Amino acid sequence: MGFRGWFRLNLEQAELAFAVFKTLAFVGAVAALFLAPVRPEHQVHLPPLLAFFLLYHLLLYGAAFRWRWAIRGILLAILACDLLFVFFLVWFTGGFESHFYLLFYLIITMSAYFFGFPIGLGSAVVSGLLYMGASFASHPEAVHLGHLSARIALFGLFGVSVGFLSERDRRYRAAVEQLNRELHQAYRELQAAQERLIQAERLSTIGKMSAKVAHEIRNPLSAIHLNAELLEDEIEHLQGASKEEASGLLASIKTQVQALAELTEEYLRFARMPEPKPQPEAINEIVADLVDFLVPESAERGIVIESRFAPDLPTVLVDRRQLRQALLNITRNAFEAMPDGGHLVIVTRRAGRGSPIAGPEKRKPNSRPPTMDAEFVEISVSDTGVGIPPESLGRIFEPFFTTKGEGTGLGLTIVRQIVEQQGGTIACQSVPGEGTTFTIRLPLSSGKGAS
Ligand code: ADP
Ligand code: MG
Repeated sequence: MGFRGWFRLNLEQAELAFAVFKTLAFVGAVAALFLAPVRPEHQVHLPPLLAFFLLYHLLLYGAAFRWRWAIRGILLAILACDLLFVFFLVWFTGGFESHFYLLFYLIITMSAYFFGFPIGLGSAVVSGLLYMGASFASHPEAVHLGHLSARIALFGLFGVSVGFLSERDRRYRAAVEQLNRELHQAYRELQAAQERLIQAERLSTIGKMSAKVAHEIRNPLSAIHLNAELLEDEIEHLQGASKEEASGLLASIKTQVQALAELTEEYLRFARMPEPKPQPEAINEIVADLVDFLVPESAERGIVIESRFAPDLPTVLVDRRQLRQALLNITRNAFEAMPDGGHLVIVTRRAGRGSPIAGPEKRKPNSRPPTMDAEFVEISVSDTGVGIPPESLGRIFEPFFTTKGEGTGLGLTIVRQIVEQQGGTIACQSVPGEGTTFTIRLPLSSGKGAS
């Protein structure tokens, strides 16, 4: 149960508790008034009246427990029945002379407290009318108009003053509850921030360590590479089968060394991410450049690249090299997700704050005309690759998370770091077996001084 639900239930319970308390007070008051003698000729009316009292209480409380959500309506019905009950009680025990009219005060006070000013005033007015009716119906000759008006005026006073007090009370309570909720929220945010901080600290240690290791490996690695090349020259003199075997072995060594070198490069890139140097850039140009760069490799892999550029995109403050790096990491993953070829679609567009992130080719680009209040430039990269299972989707940006035998798990971490450093966001949507879309949003006017 959420905080809201808990809050609601408590409110209902509080209302029920109040209703029970109110009834107890009412029963006590009726009992107290019976301490004063009731004339014998009036006593005959009491059993049916008490039966009515019992009946509506049983029925309405039963309903209140059954339909908790309707508690306010049921309490209003109880209020109406209470008023009727007192009306008949006063009528049948002498009208103006009956002392049971005192029960009106209790009813008015309680309902004004519970329902607030309007209902408090309303029940005072109704009480006044009922009291008048009962008085004149019973013994009109005994009615003392001065006293009657004074009593009825007091009804109104009770209803209004208690109603106001209760409303003031309620406002205070609402303010406190609001404050309480905000405090809860702030506390949760603080906790989340702290967790992120701890995580970041741990990662920075890991990052430093891996950078150190990568750095240490780099020099011996280039030495191995160099030696392999020297060896290649040496075996030029060999003849026949042994030469072929040796050059095969050497080629394999060089491939492995190359793979290791790329891996260490990626670690170092991650560890030594330089501060971005944002410049106003045309995003379409950066993307078009990248596509040109990718075309030869994609052709080799049987991948068709399609790019759609929004016209009239405003320039965005970004570090060109870093954004290119980020897009390269994303497209590299996309290529790797399509071992048997496929489609890669890169789209740029303007987007507003509330507009949904594009799904994998669910929405036609430019189907919505660019609006002047657009706040982002969006770059989305969709592939028709293997997709990402839901259980991995939440982890792909984590450092070292990889599903590839020789992956570093750093590619997307770098992407996210770059995008967030420029004040942007990145999201990923994926359907296993169908494809994946990464969407980068870069703010048009970030706090970093875009104009
Ligand atoms: P790496 O590529 O070294 O594994 P990344 O951080 O680049 O590390 O990616 C992390 C993981 O996210 C990948 O191992 C892969 O499982 C998943 N992934 C990323 N992009 C895609 C994609 N376009 N399609 C399917 N899976 C992807
Ligand atoms: Mg990768």
